[in-house]
Amino acid sequence: MDDRYRSNYKMSVKDNLEYINKMGIGKFIEEQYRKYRCSKCGGLISIHNRKCFKCDSITRLVEKNT
Ligand SMILES: [Zn+2]
Repeated sequence: MDDRYRSNYKMSVKDNLEYINKMGIGKFIEEQYRKYRCSKCGGLISIHNRKCFKCDSITRLVEKNT
């Protein structure tokens, strides 16, 4: 990894910790949840592939039946 990535990563971790200290862990989780929420159904989106757990499973069911 290059230095820019490393310093950016360090920055965001520091920012997150400051946010947790200021707002509390509950607020932090709420904020993370809002960040990764599906715009279609409001469900939780996987941070790994950005797919909505709900919509993705619905899509799969529809594909199966057609
Ligand atoms: Zn969804």
